[in-house]
Amino acid sequence: MRAHLDLEEQVPGVADDGVWLTCIECGETFAPFDAVRYTCDDCDGLLEVRYADLPTWEDFGGASTPESGPYGVWRYSDALPFESGVSLPEGGTPLHHVPRLEDEVGVRNLRVKHEGMNPTGSFKDRGMTVGVRVAQEVGVGRLACASTGNTSAALAAYGARGGMETLVLLPAGKVAAGKVAQASLHGARILEVDGNFDRCLDIVQDLAARGEVYLLNSLNPFRLEGQKTIGLEIMERFYADEGRYPDRIVLPVGNAGNTAALYKCFRELQRAGAIEASEVPKLTGVQAEHSAPMVEAVEEGWDEIQRWEEVETRATAIRIGNPVNAPKALPGIRETGGTAVAVSDEAITDAQRSLAESGVGVEPASAASLAGLRKLREQGRVDADEDVVCLTTGHLLKDPDAAYEAGSDPEPVPADTDAVLDHLADE
Ligand SMILES: *Cc1c(COP(=O)(O)O)cnc(C)c1O
Ligand SMILES: [Zn+2]
Repeated sequence: MRAHLDLEEQVPGVADDGVWLTCIECGETFAPFDAVRYTCDDCDGLLEVRYADLPTWEDFGGASTPESGPYGVWRYSDALPFESGVSLPEGGTPLHHVPRLEDEVGVRNLRVKHEGMNPTGSFKDRGMTVGVRVAQEVGVGRLACASTGNTSAALAAYGARGGMETLVLLPAGKVAAGKVAQASLHGARILEVDGNFDRCLDIVQDLAARGEVYLLNSLNPFRLEGQKTIGLEIMERFYADEGRYPDRIVLPVGNAGNTAALYKCFRELQRAGAIEASEVPKLTGVQAEHSAPMVEAVEEGWDEIQRWEEVETRATAIRIGNPVNAPKALPGIRETGGTAVAVSDEAITDAQRSLAESGVGVEPASAASLAGLRKLREQGRVDADEDVVCLTTGHLLKDPDAAYEAGSDPEPVPADTDAVLDHLADE
């Protein structure tokens, strides 16, 4: 029986300032900052950050008062292990209205939470602002991650800001150009591994276990604390606009960190008495069809995923065969009444184009959310009267090659006004 956040949680002796870590598999508790630890000492299970006191919705500024501070991750510091962190700043991203897409998909409300608007262009920044703060607390100076790209960009930028050394392991030839450029210019040491993302993560976990580096993949439970603020922002903003919470949140799934973080967010809001069980949005995960171990586990009703050794998709940010946060995310999908769905690369590109035509520029992985929603609507698994939020995780410029391929070609014209007019008249 997994030890998921108990709504009547007792505070263990190891708690430091009301914060501690709990193993989700065996329930063992640990002091949060006495040692560097990513998984349970006893059973190697995933750890979760727990709090003695969870703020009420009013403490979060649920009434959207100016006193709650500026929009962003640290607005919700009452629900985080620290008051502040190394910040660029992050969060406070738009929740776009997309009326044409809403009509086309056929749901009551469709909103797009565009996480590509974070400082380095993806939601990973939310996790890094907290994660790098924890690295400072435990006193390690060398940060590392395995990455399909965006984690490395965020780690490089936040590490640079915090004056720390950064090391990133990338699958050779499988990372979008914008992301490598970011990691490089922000000063990370980039190791290109002849293997896929999952192999990179195996190696960086070994390095972390040998004490060589502080690991900032989403296996690190503190990163998910920062990422849970996506859920807080969606709930706060949607409620302010509509007077109710969304029925469903559709998101791309790679390592399933966000899925886990959102589930934890909703559990904590419930525990604080801020929302009812019936108000928890259905978590709906989307993967690319040749990279879909989570979808397989949901469809088969398995408690665990089976690692896919070979994965492929144009949506490189979710080209992952061994989602490390599956033990946290699978119960989230199930217990919120959500589901998971796989989509083709063609459907992802179509969705990327459609979002761009609504002015929302996203990278391919992000567009998987809309592609998944379309498929579920067509299959009648999402109802027409639902309020839906699609999470778009990264910015269009992250992957210029994919954008170029999805878009139309430039038309060469002579450097002459009349010739340009002739060309335009030719259509
Ligand atoms: C990291 C990432 C994902 C996958 O998120 P998980 O939390 O690992 O499931 C999806 N899209 C983009 C753009 C990403 O950078
Ligand atoms: Zn354990």
